[in-house]
This record gives sequence, C-alpha cells and structure tokens, in this order.
Amino acid sequence: MEKIKTTCVYCGTGCQLWLKTKDGKVVDTKPVMPPEFNPGRGKLCIKGWNVHEFIHHPDRLTDPLIKKENGHWEKVSWEQVITYIAERFKQIINENPGNKKAIGCLSSAKCTNEENYVFQKFVRAVLKTNNVDHCARLCHSSTVVGLGAAFGSGAMTNSIDEITDAKVIFVIGSNTNEQHPLIGARILKALKKGTKLIVADPRTIPLSELAEDNQGIAIKHRPGTDVALLNGIMNVIIQEKLYDEKFIRQYCENFNAFKEEIRKMTLERASNITSVSQKKIIQTARIIGQADSVYLIYSMGITQHTTGVDNVKSTANLQMLCANVGKWATGVNPLRGQNNVQGACDMGALANVFSGYQSVTDKEIRKKMAREWKIEAEEMDDQIGLTVVEMIDAAYQGDLKALYVMGENPVMSDPDSNHVRAALRKTFLIVQDIFMTHTAELAEVVLPAASFAEKEGTFTSTERRVQMVRKAIEPVGNSKPDWQIIALLAREMGYSGLNYQHTSEILDEINRITPIYGGITWERLQKNEAGLQWPCPDISHPGTIYLHRDGKFSRGKGYFHPISFKEPAELPGKEYPFILSTGRILWHFHTGTMSRRSKTLNERVPEGYVEISKEDAEKLQINNNEMIKVTTRRGEIEIKAKITHKVSKGLIFIPFHFEEAAANILTNAALDPIAKIPEYKVCAARIEKIV
Ligand code: SF4
Repeated sequence: MEKIKTTCVYCGTGCQLWLKTKDGKVVDTKPVMPPEFNPGRGKLCIKGWNVHEFIHHPDRLTDPLIKKENGHWEKVSWEQVITYIAERFKQIINENPGNKKAIGCLSSAKCTNEENYVFQKFVRAVLKTNNVDHCARLCHSSTVVGLGAAFGSGAMTNSIDEITDAKVIFVIGSNTNEQHPLIGARILKALKKGTKLIVADPRTIPLSELAEDNQGIAIKHRPGTDVALLNGIMNVIIQEKLYDEKFIRQYCENFNAFKEEIRKMTLERASNITSVSQKKIIQTARIIGQADSVYLIYSMGITQHTTGVDNVKSTANLQMLCANVGKWATGVNPLRGQNNVQGACDMGALANVFSGYQSVTDKEIRKKMAREWKIEAEEMDDQIGLTVVEMIDAAYQGDLKALYVMGENPVMSDPDSNHVRAALRKTFLIVQDIFMTHTAELAEVVLPAASFAEKEGTFTSTERRVQMVRKAIEPVGNSKPDWQIIALLAREMGYSGLNYQHTSEILDEINRITPIYGGITWERLQKNEAGLQWPCPDISHPGTIYLHRDGKFSRGKGYFHPISFKEPAELPGKEYPFILSTGRILWHFHTGTMSRRSKTLNERVPEGYVEISKEDAEKLQINNNEMIKVTTRRGEIEIKAKITHKVSKGLIFIPFHFEEAAANILTNAALDPIAKIPEYKVCAARIEKIV
C-alpha cells in the first residue's frame, strides 16, 4: 500500500489526511499526524474518515457525452466534444453581439484554487464576460460584502487555533458541531478550559445544549430576527457603558449615526420581535461587554437571508463596539461551508472581482490583468456580471443562451428548483462533473472531471489557510482535471494563454497578480506542512494568523453601519402558517452528490425528513416517520416527519441533501438586494397529512 497526504474535500475546516492506495485505487483514509500540522489536530470527522468511498463509485463519469435528439447519451472523444462546445460558443457570441447576458458560467467551491482561477480567466479573457459566479453567492456572498464594507476584508478575522484561548465564544447561526465537526471539537476543548459559550439559533442545536450544561446561554430567537437581537444586545452594552470608547475613537468611524439607530431598538422592542426574554438579552450583553475576548462564529444562519448583509454588518458592529477585533482570540469568524469556497472567492470566481478581490470595474486593474493574460484591456467586460440566481432568471427569460457549469448542481442547490429546471431546459447547458448530477441530466453536453484524489493543486480553508491537494491515483476512465478541460476549450477557441504544463505554473501566475497570495508559492507550500494563511504579500512573509491587528483595519478605519430591523420577505399567515428553514446535517454534504455515494454515510441517514415539534405534530395528528406533504408558494414535496424537541411550535426544518424530498423545491428565491443571496432560512409553509 502507498499513501499520499492531501486535504479533505468535504468542508472548509481543511483537515489533512492520508489517502491510502492499492493497485491504482484509493482504499482507505487516515488523519495526518503530528496534530500541529493539521487543522483537525490529528482527527477526522465521520465524513473525513470515509472521504475515499465515493471516488471509485460505479456512477463515476468516464467519458464525454453529448445528448442526441432522441434524448440518449452518446459517448464521444475529447476532440469531438471540445470542437462541438467551441463551435456553439462561437456561434452564440456571433449571433448575440452586445448581449452581455448571452453566456453564463458557474465555477466550483469543490475545485482547486488553480481550477477556479483558470475558469474565471477563460470566462473573462476568452468569452469576454464577467458572468462568472459560484455557490458562495448562495452561502457567504453577504459575508464578502458585509465584512468588506465594515472592515475591508470579507474573511474570518481569526484562526481556528485561537478558539481555545477565547474568554467567550458567541455562536450565532452556525450548527458548528454538525457542519464543521472539528471546529466544534475546539469549542468543546475551550469549554473544558472555562470559556463561556453563548449560542443563538432558532433551533436547539447540539451547541445550545452544551451552552446550557456549562453555565452559558442558549438563545432561541424567531427566525430572521438576528438584527433585532444583535441591536438589542448592543443597546444594553451602550446603555450600561460597556463599550470601548477609546478603541472606537481611535480606530472606527460613523459611531454617532450607528448609536442613534441602536437607541431605537429598546430592550422591550428587541424582546418582542425576537421572542427572547429581556433577561437573556441583558445577560448576553453583559457577558460580551465585560469579556476580554469574544470569538464570534457565524455561518449560514446569518447569511442566507434577504437581510444577509445587514446581519453580517451587525456582527461587525458588535465586535467593534467592545474592541473585540484585531487581537488574538477575538473577532468575527464566518465559517465557510465547502472545502474551497474561500479559495473560489479568492480566485475571482465572482461576478464583480478578479482574484484577490480586485474590482472588475477598475480600469487600472483590468489593464493589469490584460497585460498578464496577453489580451486587449479595451475588449474586456467593464461591468459587473450576472450572479447565480440572475443567470437562472436570464435563462428563463431566454436571454442567457448558454450556461457552462463546472462542479455545481444548481437544480439541487438553488432556491425554487422547479423554476431552475424550467430555466435550464431553455439554454445550451454544459456540465463538467465527476457524477451525473441532477443538473447534468438536463445538459446537452457532459464532461467527465477528475476527483480531488486524481489531481494536484491547492484549497484555501475557512481560516484563509492555503494547503496542498496531491494526486493519489490517475484520473478515473477518460476523465481529466478541470483545468486541463478548460485549457483545451480555450485553445480550440483560439486562445493560448491557458497552455500550462503543470498546476504550479497557474499558482505562479496567481502569485504575480494577486497581492494577498503574492508569497504563497508552490515551493513554499511543498515545504511548509501547515500551509500558509493569506494575506501573504511576498515570499519573506510568514502569513497572517489574525486580521486588522491593533485596530489597523484593511479599509483604514472600521465602519459602523446603522442597521434597522427588517422582517423576512415571506412570513407565515393563514394559508401557510409555518416557517420553513433549511440546512445541513452531520452525515451529508451539500447536494449529496458525493456523500450519498458513500456507503457508510448513506447507510446512517439514507433519506430526507422534516423536523416538526411535538405540539404541532399532536395538533395535526402526525406520527413520527409518517409521510406528510409540505407545501409552499413554489411547490410541494412528500417527506417523512421527524418529531423532535429541536424545533419550536410553528417552525419546521428540512435538510437539503435529498433529491427525493428536495427542500429547494420549496424555498424562496427572494434575494438580499446587495449580495444577491437567496433567503433559504425563512419561508412560509403548510404541512398536511397524506390521506
Ligand atoms: Fe473533512 Fe471538515 Fe470533517 Fe475535517 S471537519 S474531516 S475537513 S469534513
């Protein structure tokens, strides 16, 4: 047996693992030791231990496929398929002069940094559009916008290691133990050292119970009322003068306007809106206001709202108010869901920025990119492109003539799946993936990609840590690494700027034109077992453990945003009396493409379910495990009822991993006006017995 060290492909924690191989196949997984070179500290969660199980699944795509008129797939050669796509792209570009919506492209948070960089370069340099986006739009685009506006950088301010040194950990809208199990393990360790834990979540999650068992606070607020809760807490902090005036005067701006807004969220009003007792709000405010360090963690419970940007800015307000940012073990820490969603954003797989968050609307930046890419700056798109949901809408309207999807599954991951399917049927759809996903089934062309075990490159974890991905086996069948497929297509379309011989050459280019990655070189990563954290501007820089050191915010001064409370886009009423929320569970990952092909994981939780409170189940005479119907204004599904104390009366919860009970048939596509993130966490629903 041989073994190769690589990075876990399931979540953003970035655990290091060994893939063991035998006779050209990956047969086992083990955690990397010693623990100091592993964000998982020598451990893996259940997904990590079984990460090899999907690699050789018989469903792997092995050859390029083109759908014939009779609906049957025909296996074709790489030459045939690349020519076919290139011709169609050229035809669409020629037939739609001036239509900036003609072609859209979705990059992937599962692919490497190098592949995301190459993909957005192809879109911008060859297709000449900024219509490139990826699923960060659906999970953390509000973080990128909100923290960017408040601090100047939209990433975790601190590192995972600092968790155990925090005096207080405040988790709001993150089911950390299930979504990032080995970050959850650090919280457990901190509790043993005496850290106080505050958890705010509309459901009773494992961390809520831990907080209560350890003299902390568990808050169960009404879904969609995070701004009211945070403003209420800050109102108490200001009233009781627990804030840090000196820090605010020296390092922040716009405090007075912010303070005026906070005055409006009286304790009584905050309690009425959130359904949290005044006593709990006061206790929380005092703990936060009096602590030396508060490690604030949030995730999609904060971001996936029509007020996602407001929610994020409110977390930043709270941490600036008490000078809890710019120091060890204290700051604002959005946990990124997918293995490389941080890296895909860093690489510019977003409609508004090139790599390193350099704006596409900045003429000088476009000139810099054009020089490196050997194209004419004047030919580049100078406007922000379409985002994920906007591309789907444009396809539905008939404006978007082609959609190229690399490693994403919008039919399962985007809100209002029926609308997504209808939209995708109207466009020339190309899907590049390792399995025949639900999106791929609708495509005209399917390209087989290599899995993480079959290629080299880097992933960037949630704590901005760039780590190596190493090749353990040859690509399965005739599949190819994504960057090689894109390069073939670019060459066929007459562009030679993607003719790299090795992945390291792509990172060299990223180093040259992306200041925050300037010193994260291939050579250093090969030698440095623990990887490197950005910003790392040059090869003598050690990388950055925490951001905004000593009040020196990336944007200059920290900015207080006055935020007023707004209700979610859709509230329960007579016809749809329940609030539906969606999310993930420990045993599965995202749209289930990989985890549902893992024998161990799928055996543990083989099917979807809806969580419902005992009170509601009794009222509707619903039994545990009974099939029921859940309906919203978008559609309906039949799903098994799971009666649980986790949800309160009036709230139901559905994990979104399961195609046969797809939660996103139900969700609302209403968007945050700035980040364009959909409101997955709140919509109005009805539940009924099936008779
Ligand atoms: Fe993989 Fe995340 Fe589990 Fe670590 S915590 S083993 S990165 S899924």
